[in-house]
Amino acid sequence: MLGNMSSDCIFCKIAAGEIPAKKLYEDDQAVAIADIDPRAPLHVLVIPKQHIASLAEVGASDKEKLLAGHLLGVANQLAREQGLSKGYRVVINIGPDGGQTVDHLHVHLLGGRTMHWPPG
Ligand code: 5GP
Ligand code: ZN
Repeated sequence: MLGNMSSDCIFCKIAAGEIPAKKLYEDDQAVAIADIDPRAPLHVLVIPKQHIASLAEVGASDKEKLLAGHLLGVANQLAREQGLSKGYRVVINIGPDGGQTVDHLHVHLLGGRTMHWPPG
């Protein structure tokens, strides 16, 4: 479900510029910020400006699906710009079992080291 800004959501506040973050990219739909607790030399979060609780909420409309795809495209663009020519990882955690801790959809872009599989 697409929604308006959720007043108690940290990523809504970051997207609105109310809480500072290191912004690496911004367009009318999305913002990319450096993760506050990086798990790789490059750890970026790509966040929709609209409040969507998680990927599990995406699918009711083409608009939502296009937005989710846009987030992946932005992650790929940033990876290219950051020179991650040997590869990188994109992760979306969904819900408690998926390890999601912030209930606003975000795409993790991790790079700059060799990743392990499977993730923990
Ligand atoms: P999740 O576990 O929900 O997939 O990922 C949430 C991510 O958001 C974590 O990697 C965490 O370090 C990051 N994070 C949480 N709060 C903030 C914040 O206030 N600023 C930034 N830049 N990252 C945050
Ligand atoms: Zn939000």
